[in-house]
Amino acid sequence: MSCSTDERETAETQKSIPLDLDAIKGMRFFDPHIHMVSRTTDDYQAMADAGIVAVIEPAFWLGQPRTGVDTFRDYYSSLIGWERFRASQFGIKHYCTIGLNSREANNQKLAEQVMEILPLFIYKEGVLGVGEIGFDDQTPAEEKYYRLQLELAKEAGLPVQIHTPHRDKKKGTQRSMDIAIEHGLNPYSVIVDHNNEETVKEVLDRGFWAAFTIYPFTKMGNERMVEIVKQYGTERIIVNSAADWGISDPLAVPKTAALMKIHGIDVKDIDLVCFRNAITAFGQSGQIVESDFEEVQNMDQSKKFEGNSVLRGGQAPRINKSSLIIS
Ligand SMILES: [Zn+2]
Repeated sequence: MSCSTDERETAETQKSIPLDLDAIKGMRFFDPHIHMVSRTTDDYQAMADAGIVAVIEPAFWLGQPRTGVDTFRDYYSSLIGWERFRASQFGIKHYCTIGLNSREANNQKLAEQVMEILPLFIYKEGVLGVGEIGFDDQTPAEEKYYRLQLELAKEAGLPVQIHTPHRDKKKGTQRSMDIAIEHGLNPYSVIVDHNNEETVKEVLDRGFWAAFTIYPFTKMGNERMVEIVKQYGTERIIVNSAADWGISDPLAVPKTAALMKIHGIDVKDIDLVCFRNAITAFGQSGQIVESDFEEVQNMDQSKKFEGNSVLRGGQAPRINKSSLIIS
């Protein structure tokens, strides 16, 4: 046999359709969950070229635990500072949500210090919510800081972006919603993220927003997403990439839109789940001004942020990616 089991498995699990974003040309996209600090300038260029005009970067853990409150402070500062500026240089409007992630909530000594600095950041311009918060291992410490941050969101009148756990997802998702209700939050101001077929119905039935992360191998594939929209429609459904430092795809939203188009989903509906719904949900912060999207598109890369540019020593503003020559 010329085809080994491994090769067959690869062929089966990695089905491939040639990428053709022409089908969605002219459409605008909003990726409301992406960790740009872990991504490159190439990603920003490709995202802008694919029609992404705005993103939300939730505060999360960085792949290894932080050891002091100052690194949290610097990280939050970069989300509202340098990263926002960097995105603007590629024509993308960058927002963020600020919070203590569930994983690091388990370091209680540090968590206490982080809770103290959160109010210094959540009221800043362009912060659209408290996030991403919720459960990872569903420990008592995670619950404690989740509850405290729900109170913070309530006080600030901000939406909440909930990270639901990979393990024991259904129970973790239910618990996250129960606790949010217990704290008096309006489900319409709570975006429950990383849903799948197992959680979507209850999340929608209870009036929360159901966000879906198109993330290779682990969370959701975009063919499954097409089926979800066919089955549940578009109301309170949001698509995102959650692209980060793992094997993930910063073009997950436009690619899913293109796949939906191929499967005959109406452009109006694609626009809702890949653009408009995120604005409606996070716009409850009062912080989204849509005219900013165009304004940022007209920015030029020679601008500076606290004296620093994304350009290095006389670089031209944009790389011609279709040229073999690097000059
Ligand atoms: Zn995330």
